[in-house]
Amino acid sequence: MAPEETTQAAAGEQLPQDKISEIARRALKGLVAKGKAPIPPVYEKAFYDEALKLGEEGLVAFLQAKLPPGQAAQAMAERLAGVMTNLGDTMKQYKERLDVHSEHIEGRKKSLEDALAPEVWAVLQQEVGALLSANALMREQVEASERRLEAHKQEVAELQRRVRFDALTGALNRGAFEEDIADEYARCRRYDRPFTLIIADIDCFKKVNDTYGHTIGDEVLKYFVRMISQEVREIDRVYRYGGEEFVVLLPETDFDGALVVAERLRSRVESRVLKCKGDEDISLKITASFGVTTGGPEDANPKAVLARADKALYKAKEEGRNRVVGLRPGGGAA
Ligand code: GH3
Ligand code: MG
Ligand code: MG
Repeated sequence: MAPEETTQAAAGEQLPQDKISEIARRALKGLVAKGKAPIPPVYEKAFYDEALKLGEEGLVAFLQAKLPPGQAAQAMAERLAGVMTNLGDTMKQYKERLDVHSEHIEGRKKSLEDALAPEVWAVLQQEVGALLSANALMREQVEASERRLEAHKQEVAELQRRVRFDALTGALNRGAFEEDIADEYARCRRYDRPFTLIIADIDCFKKVNDTYGHTIGDEVLKYFVRMISQEVREIDRVYRYGGEEFVVLLPETDFDGALVVAERLRSRVESRVLKCKGDEDISLKITASFGVTTGGPEDANPKAVLARADKALYKAKEEGRNRVVGLRPGGGAA
């Protein structure tokens, strides 16, 4: 017999290659239908979701181990939410079946009483009563479990929200950014709506750490996020992309509008003094450089938009820092 091509899944389990190909095909089809680009990590997540839908536990565990930790945590929280919804549905069905059962017994009581000899019915009536009480008790227990499940559902929803945030600064995290930019890009392509990215990098941040220590450095990062968040609209989202780099995603904002926002952010950062209380009170000022670009239909994927914003940021650094540089979708500078 010819050896079948397989892929190593979890704990020695083998998965046939044709099954993997089928899951990959479904993942791709799903992404195309939603207008999303099949790029990492969007594709990996879609692949994982398909394996989950098909109940391929071995492959799910295998893929989960391959996801970046933040994304894996998101996937696990999502899965937990799914399990809870299923559990809720099962409990509802269980309650309905108990009700049907009790109603059936109640309905039969009269005919049994008429059909049976009084002494037989007297005995049976007690048994029927016990059965109905047992059903009523089970119903109460299911209802109590439903209430507990509802509380846990809210905790899981909170967990799903929290895994999207950066633990230090409270900004949205890199995983959330990867997800949201893919959505924004799909929306931009489908409805021809603009979206803009502002990428911000604190200038000479290494010097802040070197001069005042990492604790103060951390305070500066938190303060930076607070300042930026206060200056943008509710629908604009602030992400910590990594280290001292942040991205603001501005839906429904064109290039010129975003340049104005970025300049406002830059000037606000420059003008504020951060006071830190400690063994010695410290007052410090920072500046940041900003790269701005807009996602356009000519961008092959969200990464192309981010790369352009990064290029603009690099230019801002090169030109002396503490400035805003914009690059239009065609590549022209503002
Ligand atoms: P540039 O103006 O070119 O951006 O210079 P820079 O010093 O800001 O950039 P560089 O990339 O040389 O240094 C970034 C520093 O950010 C180095 C790293 O230790 C620090 N950093 C990254 N993450 C954290 C963090 O979570 N807390 C603290 N305190 N520092 C961090
Ligand atoms: Mg920097
Ligand atoms: Mg940097």
